[in-house]
Amino acid sequence: MGRWIINAAWPYVNSVPHLGTFIHLLSADVYARYLRLKGEEVIAVTGSDEHGTPIEVEAIRNGVPPRQLTDRVHNQICELLDAYNIRLDNYTRTESPVHIKYTQELYTKLYNNGYIYTQNVNLPYCEVDKRFLPDRFVEGTCPHCGFEQARGDQCDSCGRVLDPLELIRPRCVFCNSTPTVKSSTHWFFDLPKFRDKLYTSVKENKQLPENARNFSLRWLEEGLKPRAVTRDNKWGIPAPFPGAEGKTIYVWLEAVLGYVSASIEWAEKSGRPEAWRDFWFGEGTRNVHFIGKDNIPFHVIIFPALLQATHDPYVLPWQVSSTEFILFDGQKFSKSNKIGVWIDDALKYAPGEYWRYVLIAIRPETRDGNFTWHEFEAHVNAELNDALGNFVHRTLTFINNQFESTIPSPGKLDEKDEQIKNEIEHAPEKIALLLDGFQLRSGLAATIDLARYGNQYLSEREPWHLIKTDHVKTATTLYLASQLVSALEILLSPYLPETSQRIRDQLNLTANRNWSDAGKFRLEAGHRIAKATPLFHKVKVNVS
Ligand SMILES: [Zn+2]
Ligand SMILES: [Zn+2]
Repeated sequence: MGRWIINAAWPYVNSVPHLGTFIHLLSADVYARYLRLKGEEVIAVTGSDEHGTPIEVEAIRNGVPPRQLTDRVHNQICELLDAYNIRLDNYTRTESPVHIKYTQELYTKLYNNGYIYTQNVNLPYCEVDKRFLPDRFVEGTCPHCGFEQARGDQCDSCGRVLDPLELIRPRCVFCNSTPTVKSSTHWFFDLPKFRDKLYTSVKENKQLPENARNFSLRWLEEGLKPRAVTRDNKWGIPAPFPGAEGKTIYVWLEAVLGYVSASIEWAEKSGRPEAWRDFWFGEGTRNVHFIGKDNIPFHVIIFPALLQATHDPYVLPWQVSSTEFILFDGQKFSKSNKIGVWIDDALKYAPGEYWRYVLIAIRPETRDGNFTWHEFEAHVNAELNDALGNFVHRTLTFINNQFESTIPSPGKLDEKDEQIKNEIEHAPEKIALLLDGFQLRSGLAATIDLARYGNQYLSEREPWHLIKTDHVKTATTLYLASQLVSALEILLSPYLPETSQRIRDQLNLTANRNWSDAGKFRLEAGHRIAKATPLFHKVKVNVS
């Protein structure tokens, strides 16, 4: 048995997540369910990322405390996670006292270990608002592409990371005036000290996907720069360094620490406060992250460097499953331009279970995925409803009607029967190989292929005609088809837990089973099943 920490990227809570962010939470949930079914020891954690300038800007504009905004969105997300059946061991937030304490202790350790130093930096300063304008408190024209709404930390048009002083015609986001430049003392993390160690570990980690590996190696080859840890922001975690009163820790450099603090909080809540150490300091623990490709540097370079700088024996990220982007009708999701689908609205069009299916079916594992409503309908109607739903329903209603809801005794198997028997027996191993390689999408496709195969088998056999002439052969067909339904119940359960539960109820089976049981014939002849009801319905989406 192995030990696993499953981490999903922390959604930034200036709004509820859109589909592109939600997919990381979903992937973590699917993977944790899969591992548990295999009998592994797992904690799955993440939470709301709530500090930083975008939320502070919105709060100042609305004249409310930032915490009021994040309380609202955080609570909303917790409810939505339930609606999508996302069951993590801890979904917390960066305002959690455990996170704040952990972050301050970690940076104190880094300071004592000599990895933190001060430097004076020139920053834009608004004379009207009497404040420094870090990150998104200043906007202007991008020096690289000429985009006029570039933010102080990044240009949303060309994607380049910016220094606020690089902006052409900078303006304060609050009062629109032109900022002056003022010097301020900041605390820096000596990231270059970790360059060689990181280079070796990234190079040797064969588990990393191509995109994460190549991106990180390129970054490391170019050489690392020290990172400013502090900000002149009020909304954030107070910096614990001597003389740093009034400064907070840069949001990116504390949210990544949430993986550890969320595990500590999980351990405290579960009444075994030291249990998190078994995971984070346990040799052989596999530390898995589900993130988007834009977060690669923070997870493959900065987070491991921060952990190493403590000199404690932390388990570093082993797999960083970094998906490409999901586009919406070919465009990037954008809250301000109302392009995309957010997970609260999504439920108006279809139940959470349908979204779980479609999102994994389009999970952008090797290249950008594209969400369109047309494709959404096609996945639900042709795959969930026609392939999976129909196979299960046809099989079970036939047993209800022709065999008095009792699994029939099989006769002698012919070649076709042997083939389907073979498919069932090898399915858990075959699909596990895909999931062990973090190919969640291919794993799901292979599972649906099994249902298609089952449909084909039924269509070729035509038990509805066969029953008039050959009762034994019909019984064999339905015996085998029902075993395939019971295999699907297990193989689907990481992806579609609710559907799996409904199949289980219809088969009259218990949840006491594991992954490899999917290859066994669990339904004995004579076992009584319940009445079949359709699993899905077709959807037609009218987006106004
Ligand atoms: Zn630009
Ligand atoms: Zn101003």
